[in-house]
This record gives sequence, C-alpha cells and structure tokens, in this order.
Amino acid sequence: MILPSFIVILSIIVTLLSTAFIRTIIIRHTAASKLQESYEIPSDIPLEDAAENLAEAVSFKTVASEKENFPPFHKFLSEHYPLVHSKLSRMYSDTDNLVFVYEGKDPSLPPALLTAHQDVVPADEGEWEHPPFEAVIDDDGYIYGRGSFDDKSSLIAILESVEYLLKQNFVPKRTWYIAFGCDEETRGSDGASLIASRFEEDGIRFGFLLDEGGVVAKGFIGQIKAPIAVVGVCEKGNAHVSMEVSLIGGHSSTPKNPTSMGILAKAVSQIEHHPQSPRLIAPVKQMLHHLGLHAPFSFAYIVLNSWLFAPIIISIFKKNPTMNALIRSTTTVTMVKGSEAANIIPTTSYGIMNIRMLPGEKAATVIDSITKDLKDDRVRFTVEYESPVSTVSPIDTKGFAHLKNTISTIFPECVVSPYVMTGGSDALHYEKVCDNVYRFTPALMDNSELDRMHNTNERFSKENLSNAILFYTTLIRNDSF
Ligand SMILES: [Zn+2]
Repeated sequence: MILPSFIVILSIIVTLLSTAFIRTIIIRHTAASKLQESYEIPSDIPLEDAAENLAEAVSFKTVASEKENFPPFHKFLSEHYPLVHSKLSRMYSDTDNLVFVYEGKDPSLPPALLTAHQDVVPADEGEWEHPPFEAVIDDDGYIYGRGSFDDKSSLIAILESVEYLLKQNFVPKRTWYIAFGCDEETRGSDGASLIASRFEEDGIRFGFLLDEGGVVAKGFIGQIKAPIAVVGVCEKGNAHVSMEVSLIGGHSSTPKNPTSMGILAKAVSQIEHHPQSPRLIAPVKQMLHHLGLHAPFSFAYIVLNSWLFAPIIISIFKKNPTMNALIRSTTTVTMVKGSEAANIIPTTSYGIMNIRMLPGEKAATVIDSITKDLKDDRVRFTVEYESPVSTVSPIDTKGFAHLKNTISTIFPECVVSPYVMTGGSDALHYEKVCDNVYRFTPALMDNSELDRMHNTNERFSKENLSNAILFYTTLIRNDSF
C-alpha cells in the first residue's frame, strides 16, 4: 500500500517540523524573559596615558627566546604601575613570570585568576609600516607593533585597571591572582605551565579564570548583524604527526615511479580531499543556542533545532574555514622534505601534518581514520607531539554569568556566546587548577584586524584599549559570583 505509507511519512515530517517550530518560539520566549544584569561603569578612570604605556610596552622585544629583554620590561612595568608592585604580593619571582596577588575581603571564596602573556612572536622588521618594536601611536588612533594586540593589550589593560582600583583603595570581594607567563607563543615549560604546576604544588585552586581568547567579532556569522562576543570554553587539541615513506632512491634521470615523494604527495592530496567527519559537539551546540536567541527567526529555526537540522547546519558551517574548524578535527600537512639535491630521488620522503582535534578526540583516532581511508601502509605516521586534551568549562556557573554581564556592560550591542577556541592558549595549562576556564579578549574587531595577529602591521586601537581597561575594572569591581 503506497498511499498510506506516504501519508505516514508525510505526517512524521510535518510533526517534526512543527515540533521544531514550537520549540524555537518557546526557547526564544523563555530567554527573552530572563533579565540580564548590567553594571555601572566607573567614569573617573584615567585612560589617556594607557596608549603610551602600551606603545612603550611594545618597544621591549620580549620574544620568549630573548631572555635578556624581560628584566628591562619588568623594570618598566614596576615604574609605571607602582601600586601594583608595592601593594600586591609577588609570587614565584625566581622566574621571568609575573604573578601578583590582590587580596580580597573574603578568604572563604575561591580566588579568581586573570592571565595574559608577556612574550611575543618574532617580527620580520623590513615588512612593517612602522618598526615592530618601537613605541608608535599613529594619528589613526592605533598603537602599532608586535604584541600591541597579542597580548600586551590585555597585560597593560589588566595593570591599568588594578593600578586604578588600588588608587581608589578598593578591596575586591575575593582574591584575584594575576599571572603573566613568559613563553605562551613557544608553548614552553617556563611560563604558564610552570606557574600552574607551582599553584598545584601550593594547593591553590581557582573558581574562575580568564585568559586571552575570542574577541567581540564583527561579521562572525552573516545571518546575525550584531557583533558576537565569543568566549572560549575549551580549545582544540594540537598534534604534530610525522609522515614517512621509504623506497629505493637513485638518479633522477632514470626514475622508477612511483617515488617515495609521489606516494607521500598522493597521501597529502588524499588527506586534503577527505576531511575528518563532522559532528556537533556540546560547546558548539551551546553556541548555536546563543546565536539562535538573537538570529532572525528563519535562521534560529535551524540552529535551535540541531537535533533535526544537523546536516543543514554542517553544510552551512563547512563553507567557512573558521566555522568548519568548529565541527571537525582538521588535518593540514605543513612541511615536506625530499632529497638534498635536484637530481637525487629521495630514499625517504618526509612530511609533517598538524592535526587540530575536537575536544575529547586523540591524534591516534584521526590517524586511524586517515590510514583506513588511505589503504597504503607504505606511509608511516608517528605522533611527535600531542597537547593535553582540553576540558570543556561549564557555562551554567555564576562566574560565566558575571563574565557575560561584564561583556554586555562594556559592549552593550553584542551577543555573547560560548565557543571552541581553534588555536591554543596558556589557559590549557591552568585547567588543572581551575574548572571554570574562559578565554576572551575584550576587543571589538573584524577579520581583517584579527589577521594582523602574528602578522605584519599588528595593531590595537586606543578605543579598544580603553574598553579593555573598563572591562577588567568592571569585572573585578562588580565581582558578585
Ligand atoms: Zn596570545
């Protein structure tokens, strides 16, 4: 009986679509009735000198390997932030790290931790409009130079905020620790990794942690006009995997195909053409939920019902590299090497693949799927490095609500949403001493601005710097969680 089964299928489809429709209305209505708190912003913070302080901070070339540049940088900070250096106690001063303790009134509350990093990536000085390690504030309202954004903007903004609060004789509710590591960019062991281990040894655990991370992003997703403040609640894993193919080499004038390089190249192509399977993990579903509350109804109908529309959501996400990285582990071959001369066929061809795993996934799982797909055991994969697996921090906490309120106070027009950081940060090291680790940089930016990070002509606007200072001050002053 064709007709009755057609009617059954049709009625199932109609039921599913109407259920999704009703759910969308209910979810949006319930969220709209929840009031969001907004804080009072102090109006007497002196913001004028901050740009000069950031520009001067940039002039210290604190590349992690150039250790000699850290003591002069510390001297500059102690001269410009005297109250921070005299009123707060400093910990672990036998290292290049800066760790301060801002004692709160209530020792029964778990302390909070604000972190930023002092080190910067190197800069190819010839290609910059302004020299990367000079104190430059241009007439266009930007502070230029390596580290002006990543991450001396946060470091200076935190210090400006705390210096101001100390000047007001303000005592926070809970104790706030401040930690500036010295080697975030090299993922070394002397910075946050060491600080976190020492905290652990000393039995110090935090109830809340904020590190650099997502920004208030303009044009993050086409369907939503408002900027979206994306707060990282976890980060993707990172693995370096070597790929090796060994075959008989010889003179290139008498080749025997395929060569080891040919086999490796085929594997690289296969990896690019067969991406890892997509899936919507919990923090991405949370992101969809937050976006759905503010999106036009037609888009909200899709993203608030991922149980029904996951394939449509995945097809939207995979069109954009940033969004695509949120729904799957990514694999990129970044280095290859053959023989040492133009006329020698390599006996061993060698490549390096960088894998960025979705939280909870291991490099071995990804390699397993690649080898099953490749069906060529002449290509040998070896994991050379693998980061620890990041834990997803909860968003139903008072700390996250406080962070969200603070963001909305400073950037009232934005939508706040959790997300998965595709890059790495110091925050990963601190996960062992805190369950509520958030990654957010209080700056309003579009993609072209973000592209300057780790690139030429990195810059940070004076306006963003002022907002960042107001942000950290509001965060500490209104501590209510
Ligand atoms: Zn950074």
